[in-house]
Amino acid sequence: MHAQKTRVRFAPSPTGLLHVGNARTALYNWLFARHTGGEFLLRIEDTDLDRSEARHETQLIEDLKWLGLNWDEGPGVEGPHAPYRQSERLDIYREHTGRLLREGKAYRCFCTGEELEAERARAVAEHRPQVYSGRCRSIPQADSEARAAVGDTFAVRLRIPDQPLRFHDIVRGDVEFASETVSDPILVRSSGVPVYNYVVTVDDALMEITHVIRGDDHISNTPKQVAIYEAFGWPVPEFAHLSTILGSDRERLSKRHGATSIASFREMGILPEALVNYLALLGWGAEGGTRETFTPEELTHEFKVERVTAAPAVFDWAKLHWLNRHYLKLSEPLRLVTLATPYFENAGFLLADANAATVGWLEKLLALFLPSLDQLDQLPAKAAFIFRFDSAAALNEEENSALLATESAQKVLAAFAERVRRATGSIRPDQFKLWMNEIKTETGAKGKELFHPVRIALTGAHSGPEFDKLIPVIEEGSQLELPVHVLSVRERVEQFLAA
Ligand code: GLU
Repeated sequence: MHAQKTRVRFAPSPTGLLHVGNARTALYNWLFARHTGGEFLLRIEDTDLDRSEARHETQLIEDLKWLGLNWDEGPGVEGPHAPYRQSERLDIYREHTGRLLREGKAYRCFCTGEELEAERARAVAEHRPQVYSGRCRSIPQADSEARAAVGDTFAVRLRIPDQPLRFHDIVRGDVEFASETVSDPILVRSSGVPVYNYVVTVDDALMEITHVIRGDDHISNTPKQVAIYEAFGWPVPEFAHLSTILGSDRERLSKRHGATSIASFREMGILPEALVNYLALLGWGAEGGTRETFTPEELTHEFKVERVTAAPAVFDWAKLHWLNRHYLKLSEPLRLVTLATPYFENAGFLLADANAATVGWLEKLLALFLPSLDQLDQLPAKAAFIFRFDSAAALNEEENSALLATESAQKVLAAFAERVRRATGSIRPDQFKLWMNEIKTETGAKGKELFHPVRIALTGAHSGPEFDKLIPVIEEGSQLELPVHVLSVRERVEQFLAA
């Protein structure tokens, strides 16, 4: 266990939707905090005013809540290190810049854009690394202040010590960067806007972050951040850089690979617990096992950051669907009804304010499709035959017409129709079973020969949910007041024979 209370943060920039990679970063931070009994902070990194938008922050917060990743400090919760939005912390950064300048740890750089460009061009021509020459490093303090006082514009640069920059990474081990490759990084641009590396370090230090867990796209920033900690004399936190997530073609996961935003997974009807379980396994595995299903509580118990793998993880839809099916089957029926209703509503099959009878019926309807449901948005298509039975289309279907063309199929259908027409009231599953036995004896048809024609007549396809469950759903559905009329067994058979 960690002697000091662990404190980690998720520090998203509200410039767009929360995607798989960042959501995994948030989750690993959250799991680490919960596993170690520490604290999880949320900090909004919105210093890029042109690209940051309030609606993205709102969506981000909604996504994190949906995933169940609650924070101990941050927007909406506040806490002793407020504010938690970088745009509200500019005075803090300014104050710290003043300190670094006074102590000579940073200096004003008066180089113009053209001068720096010329320097770069020379470096390229001479095949040298394109790093800042350090021209303004040696401007005496008094001159520097005098120039600033008369309004010369300047950037603020950190004076990088002439020694390699090292840090320890929990995932990658010891990492070292030569100081020449880092040069003197800009902390504050000449526009007065502080840069990411600077503000992130000031905030992480002031917010007493002990472990920085983030994507490995930041690994080259880390030596600069380490140098900033050292300039202030602050303790350097531990780092854990998480590997990139790849698509199935082993290219960096992007929109090309389909949906990657948390909002879109939610819209598709992926359950949050399935996504959390899936993201947890994307670069981490529990000790000594091949187990793959974990509730958030189990993850919290099992999650050791030391077991995060350095190898890139490959996003696997089949596995996400497998987990989603698993959690859909474990869900309370009423919860599923609530989650599924909007999809049916959008398809025009249901109205939002379903009455108790409809809710009860929906529970049964959902149970029909659960065994093969990857995501909830597949429901309207899967259940379309219940709401909009199209006998003509079913008959036109090549495989169906071939199955129905046989003499045996015709006999079976005729015998079935006869019984349906004779029956009074709703058709019950036990009655249906009895009929099928009689028809079997009467026609000599059995197995597929017996069941396929009847199934096509009732559903339009030769495979689908079990009749035992299907018959009540059709019959009860036909009694309900819905935006579309669900045809009863009798109506289906009549329509089918007429088509
Ligand atoms: N705002 C940065 C990002 O979204 C945070 C990186 C970090 O965790 O330091 O990439």
